[in-house]
Amino acid sequence: MKPWEDKIRKVIPYTPGEQPNESDMVKLNTNENPYPPAPSVRELAKAMNTEDLRLYPDPTCHSLVSGLAAYYGLKEEQVFVGVGSDDVLAMCFLTFFNSQKPLLFPDITYSFYDVWADMLRIPYECQPLDENFHIKKEDYFRENGGIIFPNPNAPTGAELDQDAIEEIVAKNPSSIVIVDEAYVDFGGVSALPLIEKYDNVLVVQTFSKSRSMAGMRIGYAMGNAELIKYLNDVKYSFNSYTMNYPTLVLGVASLQDEAYFQETKNKIMETRAWAAKELRELGFTFEDSKSNFLFVSHKSVPAEKIFMELRKHHIYVRYFKKPRIDNYLRISIGTPKEMQKLITTLKEGDIL
Ligand SMILES: *Cc1c(COP(=O)(O)O)cnc(C)c1O
Repeated sequence: MKPWEDKIRKVIPYTPGEQPNESDMVKLNTNENPYPPAPSVRELAKAMNTEDLRLYPDPTCHSLVSGLAAYYGLKEEQVFVGVGSDDVLAMCFLTFFNSQKPLLFPDITYSFYDVWADMLRIPYECQPLDENFHIKKEDYFRENGGIIFPNPNAPTGAELDQDAIEEIVAKNPSSIVIVDEAYVDFGGVSALPLIEKYDNVLVVQTFSKSRSMAGMRIGYAMGNAELIKYLNDVKYSFNSYTMNYPTLVLGVASLQDEAYFQETKNKIMETRAWAAKELRELGFTFEDSKSNFLFVSHKSVPAEKIFMELRKHHIYVRYFKKPRIDNYLRISIGTPKEMQKLITTLKEGDIL
């Protein structure tokens, strides 16, 4: 042991999904959007004024904040932006979960939550999902230091209805409730209207999935002006220039192409319905998904085996070797062609 060892902040990091890079691969493991970003984003990226890169970017991110405020009909003071929703959520943990009482989140959920809680020494208690992997609202009607859950949940894809969300928010006036809506655009209902009615709820979204911009890193939180101010105070105490100049320019452009946004997300929902039907015919069982992935289990073949076999064919899906979900696969929705290749491989590859 080194003499400085006891002064180190030791953490067990989050493990992101694999990022293989093979020309023939079908990559369905990290919920990326299979379609490119909006055409205007791509044109602007090519025409970018790179001279301005010598300047620091606008620390207030005003262009993007005001674009988002206009898009959602909010005031600019109600919007906070960050480097992907991972950055926004990490800032939220740092800002809002500053209590000796436990933070509450589901046992099966986004696997970054316990990593941030551990890193920031935030006490937490996981609340078990029911046997069909649905959140039980009653689990959140007790003393706590804060509440966070994704809606739709990940990696299950299950949606919690708005009445239940409102009840959780209403019954916890002395805690901040964060609804992580990374997947809400794929057929879910947003809790955004609640931010006008309650001062303790924050809605977090991202450009990574529905806007095809995972590589750009844009996330945002929406809530009442006071919460947003507290978030900004922490951000400016940490790093003033979180968002870079190209990101701000391209993020604004994405918001301006509503038709493309609707078209691509509708295509993904159609492909999800088709893939669900095909997978059910092959003996997979799963709950309804309101996200851009399906969380499936096969009636006879272990998930880990299917995962390994698909890999051999350069088809990547996500397998979590964790309690309760170690016989499930999370399959992101790709293009119809990619999903067809998955189905054909499952049928003909001697896997099932
Ligand atoms: C993908 C995801 C995020 C983070 O996305 P960013 O790329 O950092 O915006 C946050 N929460 C959930 C539940 C996700 O699945």
